[in-house]
Amino acid sequence: MTAAQGRVLVIVPAAGSGSRFGGEIPKQFRMLAGKPLLQHVVERFLLDEKVSRVIVPIAEALVATVKAMPRVRFVAGGATRQQSVTLGLAAARGGVDDVVAVHDAVRPFFSSETFHAAVAAAREHGAAFPALPVADTIHVLDGDKVVMTPDRRFLFGAQTPQCFRTEVLREVLARAARDGDDASDEVGLAAKYGFDVRAVPGDPLNFKITRPEDLVMAERIIAEWGNEGSQS
Ligand code: C5P
Repeated sequence: MTAAQGRVLVIVPAAGSGSRFGGEIPKQFRMLAGKPLLQHVVERFLLDEKVSRVIVPIAEALVATVKAMPRVRFVAGGATRQQSVTLGLAAARGGVDDVVAVHDAVRPFFSSETFHAAVAAAREHGAAFPALPVADTIHVLDGDKVVMTPDRRFLFGAQTPQCFRTEVLREVLARAARDGDDASDEVGLAAKYGFDVRAVPGDPLNFKITRPEDLVMAERIIAEWGNEGSQS
């Protein structure tokens, strides 16, 4: 095994304005158990021996204000999540990592099992992500009218970390930029462009903090189980 194998570059896009959460402070900077959500996520990755470094795209205006941390680089993000990831990966040029993991800044409770399973599957197949079966029936609406009800057995929520062989993610993002595609996650793009994308088991605890009530739930989880969620 060379130095390039077995290490993972993590990109944590954190340049969103968090409009669904409301308020002045974007959700990734909201406090959870005494520290910003983003810090929970970054610190957890840094504790993982597979991780070489973490790149965090944030709003351009904030780049000059953040404190330097070893193995963490803050760079200016873009107008969309995909652009933020693209800028993060561009900043990683010259690295030796063979896999890239993209993780939402607002999912503090990912488990190392989930992360490692996605890394292994990405290394083998090209791309992988944690998929959670949907609990609700999903209807496709046109306005308020139901036009389709897909079979729930085939529907899964896409979680992160989404993992890719580095050259796969580079190619996917380059092609998306060329074609003017802007997607809500990178595995969707990879599948669209014909790459082999595999699902690993998702975890209900790895939820995305989107609304104020999610943060209340996250505080309760930490109070009950500690920082690692159910893993402690
Ligand atoms: O808005 P949404 O919840 O889909 O955002 C997912 C992640 O992408 C968040 O961590 C958010 O900060 C990040 N993002 C970004 N740049 C944007 C928009 C979202 O880094 N322009």
